[in-house]
Amino acid sequence: MQLTFLSRAVVAVSVVLPAALTAGAWQNGTEKPKPATPAAKGTKTVNDPAYNPLTDFEKYVILNKGTERPFTGEYTHTKEAGTYTCRRCNAPLYESDSKFESECGWPSFDDEIRGAVVRKLDADGYRTEILWRKCGGHVGHVVFGEGFTKKNVRHCVNSVSMRFYKKGAELPKVVPPPAKKKP
Ligand SMILES: [Zn+2]
Repeated sequence: MQLTFLSRAVVAVSVVLPAALTAGAWQNGTEKPKPATPAAKGTKTVNDPAYNPLTDFEKYVILNKGTERPFTGEYTHTKEAGTYTCRRCNAPLYESDSKFESECGWPSFDDEIRGAVVRKLDADGYRTEILWRKCGGHVGHVVFGEGFTKKNVRHCVNSVSMRFYKKGAELPKVVPPPAKKKP
């Protein structure tokens, strides 16, 4: 959503300003806006009815790999004991024990519940994306070597991808992935 807005803004600016001003505007340290990646991902942009229904913003992050703005997520500073599950399929993903304060603006964890997430190199070849193993939803990114904790790993996670359950609360039943249709 932000990217779409940004792209539109750039187009609008390009029309108004002389080309010399706009050319190279993205080379001054700002991130070049990436093209939206919708239809190519096929079913990933549509939430399967078997999973929990998602709001538009949850779809934007979980299905279309969006990112919530820093310091806006509901779990950024959560310190209570409990478990973080996938908002889409309920799979338990992080324990509060592995959460730490990084001041990066997003919830940070230095470990996942064993086998809960998979890592995948981004298309840009720089960042490593993390996805929920069960449903393939987007979690965030993993960053290495910053020295925040002994494990030296930071899972930078969108709050909106998760649901928090306080210690002792009953965790929701995990929704299994839908049966794959043969093409
Ligand atoms: Zn999931």
